[in-house]
Amino acid sequence: DLYGDRPNSRGVEFGHAATLRRLAEGVRREEGPWHAAPLVDGQLLPGAMRELRDPATGRVIGTVTESAEAASRAMAAAHGFAPRWDRTPADERAATLERAADLLEAERDAFLALLAREGGKTLEDGVAEIREAADFLRFYANGARRLFRPEALPGPTGESNVLIRHGRGAWLCISPWNFPLAIFLGQVAAALAAGNAVVAKPAEQTPLVAARAVALLHRAGIPAGALHLVPGDGAVGAALVEHRHVAGVAFTGGTDTAWRINRALAAKDGPIVPLIAETGGINAMFVDATALPEQVADDVCASAFRSAGQRCSALRLLCVQEDVADRMLAMIAGAARELALGHPADPQTEIGPVIDAEARERLLAHIARMRGEAKVVLDGTAPEGGHFVAPHIFGIARPEHLREEVFGPILHVVRWRRDALRETLAGVAASGFALTLGVQSRNESFAREVLDAVPAGNSYVNRSMIGAVVGTQPFGGMGLSGTGPKAGGPDYLRRFALERVETVNT
Ligand code: GLU
Repeated sequence: DLYGDRPNSRGVEFGHAATLRRLAEGVRREEGPWHAAPLVDGQLLPGAMRELRDPATGRVIGTVTESAEAASRAMAAAHGFAPRWDRTPADERAATLERAADLLEAERDAFLALLAREGGKTLEDGVAEIREAADFLRFYANGARRLFRPEALPGPTGESNVLIRHGRGAWLCISPWNFPLAIFLGQVAAALAAGNAVVAKPAEQTPLVAARAVALLHRAGIPAGALHLVPGDGAVGAALVEHRHVAGVAFTGGTDTAWRINRALAAKDGPIVPLIAETGGINAMFVDATALPEQVADDVCASAFRSAGQRCSALRLLCVQEDVADRMLAMIAGAARELALGHPADPQTEIGPVIDAEARERLLAHIARMRGEAKVVLDGTAPEGGHFVAPHIFGIARPEHLREEVFGPILHVVRWRRDALRETLAGVAASGFALTLGVQSRNESFAREVLDAVPAGNSYVNRSMIGAVVGTQPFGGMGLSGTGPKAGGPDYLRRFALERVETVNT
């Protein structure tokens, strides 16, 4: 029983105008300024101050203090406290995480505001993210109750064999800006549930959400020694990874960074340190002539353009059967043109900004290149003022022509003919990424053929390919897309734990 007696969180009816207005008003009341700083053993540490800006308006929303010294202090503190947290009964650790989930739901408006103003999240994405974060807290709490009690193993008469799980020590969590709450809290909650003391390094773009989440966990009852926050950039992350006390690392972000972390861990003497990495993908969706065009248009727009395409699960490469391609693409482009870009806290907005100026420039450079090299299916201009990028669609000849993850609202399209389907499938599979995969078809054998030919951690048939639900669609990929185990899945907590077996001759 993965959930115990707690179901997943409840949603919000976004079609209900009064509910939406109330949410938007709640967000508008919360204007900041906010502040984040290194937090070690409950003490805020001094350092260099940096301003943070709303990606939709450029307005300053707060500041973050960063200090290179905080990294080693936090690691030493976590290492020192880890045995005590590990001795705290798993039931107690679980109850604390469940209290945090309740607090999070009670403070939803404040988190929604931060997610919108710091992370550029629309209200709909913000609500979904807070739900996912609460689900992670409860799911791992329940997992801790089940997994961290001594387990009697079968054996010969006259001998008792017992398996006991423990935390590994000081666990390092490095999280991305695209789910600054859900992935941040998911990693931290799993590590804590398993009895580790945690050092959390949020993305440099989103320390404010992280600082508030850490404060919430402490209020819920996580001891000061069990959770430390170290905001900073990649150099701070590297210093943390290289610290001699790191007992395990959970990382979500780019494949390049995962390689760097893996190499740094491998180069260290001392205990061999496990890495859980969840990285990117060049996610494809295959559409054949039996698919329902309206559904394809909806699911493609949601998968490729919602959240401004800034999900690692997002659709990057649409592979559509030649016979229906013109008709499908006309419908998709028509639906994409209708998507409202705007400030994420505005209830009408369907697509918010991309995270920062650097992201926008990288995406605009890709668009400029594709205008020269590819067939333009959908072009567009974005509102001035913030880091907005309008949805774009480009036709390319072969899957091999897209070999990098383009992290934004840009969709690439390949057309395939029945007699060349195999090559298209092989071309997609050959990227080495294997995160999400979509199929749209009324033909079961076609769907089967695609699922068998293209490896993916999460495959979706006749629906969108984003928004995996905790416990229901455990999330994560293979190959270049990550190590597993899947977040929100039955095996995630095990990787955060040590196993000991005690054999007693009775
Ligand atoms: N779990 C998210 C989803 O299913 C994606 C997570 C990510 O972008 O890292 O859409």
